Amino acid sequence: MAPLPVETYPEDTLRKLYINLEDKEDWDNICELCTLPTLLHADAQGNRIHGACTRNQEITEDDALKEWATYQKKMKAVRSWCKEEMRRQNLEDKVNNMQKDMVTALKEFTKGTTNKLIKPAKVPSWSKGMKLTPFIKSLEVWLENNKDLPEHSKYNEIIESLKLNKEIEGLSLYIGEHVVGKLDTVEKQTVKGLIELLKTKYGRTRQEELEEIMHDWLKFNFNEYESEEEYLLA
Ligand SMILES: [Zn+2]
Repeated sequence: MAPLPVETYPEDTLRKLYINLEDKEDWDNICELCTLPTLLHADAQGNRIHGACTRNQEITEDDALKEWATYQKKMKAVRSWCKEEMRRQNLEDKVNNMQKDMVTALKEFTKGTTNKLIKPAKVPSWSKGMKLTPFIKSLEVWLENNKDLPEHSKYNEIIESLKLNKEIEGLSLYIGEHVVGKLDTVEKQTVKGLIELLKTKYGRTRQEELEEIMHDWLKFNFNEYESEEEYLLA
């Protein structure tokens, strides 16, 4: 079937046909059979018509020239619209990419800043009557929760908290005078080193430790027997 008169194709259809063209240079290809544009071998909705073209007997050479003139005029608008559309799309893509980049950068930036701004949770306090071992246990929990913090910051947080301690007798003084003097280089300033020094002053002595072990052991064994008599006879 031969193409319909150019005027019957709405601009939208022509745009669609032109966009679908693989090689945009082919827009003015001529059909050797009907002498009209090959692009127009489609219906008014822009669906390509397959099958061989039929030589149009009714169309004169003059008519064909008129058709081509109309076609070229219409296609000029279509082509510049398409060019503009592509330029706009390209620009939009660029802007979109830029926006995405900015969002990513902003997220990274905020993340970095927030990380720096987050203050570590307060160091557990060592309250009156509390033995060193349970205090160390609570410190260990705090250390685990703040493991992302650099070692030196952890050390500083703990030492500052201990310096202000008024609950444990002599602690503030011990830290301020003894510990700080002993751990006098950045290399020595570790939480482990600090705990060791706390143990020297506040930890149980070896004797106390042994006594406690003996006590626990006796209590355990004693419970195995029904009475003290039985225990003594065993
Ligand atoms: Zn044809």
